[in-house]
Amino acid sequence: MALVKDVARAAAQRALDDYWDGTIPVNPARIAMDLGMNVYRAYLAEDQSGMIRKLENEPAEIFLNANEPPLRQNFTCAHELGHWFERRSQSDEEYSFVDHRNATPNDAHEWFAEHFAANLLMPTREFITAADRGLSVAELSDYFVVSQPAIRNRLRALNMPYGGR
Ligand SMILES: [Zn+2]
Repeated sequence: MALVKDVARAAAQRALDDYWDGTIPVNPARIAMDLGMNVYRAYLAEDQSGMIRKLENEPAEIFLNANEPPLRQNFTCAHELGHWFERRSQSDEEYSFVDHRNATPNDAHEWFAEHFAANLLMPTREFITAADRGLSVAELSDYFVVSQPAIRNRLRALNMPYGGR
């Protein structure tokens, strides 16, 4: 059985191949809207970073916590998009997920969405190219519009050292 992270990586790569315009930073809200979803910035409960809900025969709705910094909203949007792709692969037409700030993924759905988001926002080839140019973690964070912890996770996932930079 394939690992969730490998399935998520493949799904993110397909999403990039099919729906990404090739520019960095990847814009997950644009991809979601191109797929017919509605994306809202909203005043959510303080500990909620975002949610997605889908009803049968209706477009999915993604809500992002308007009080979080843009780079958090960006990652949350990519995470919610991950839920959409994962549920679509199971032909599920009705679902909802609520995501809390700093929550550790606690089931296969959440791990999928988390790995999907990292792979979507930091496409492998572009990420390796940028890291090989010697960009610091802070510069990579600015370039890909993801947090520095997410940059470090991605470097680790790709077995790339980042000591001292
Ligand atoms: Zn989630």
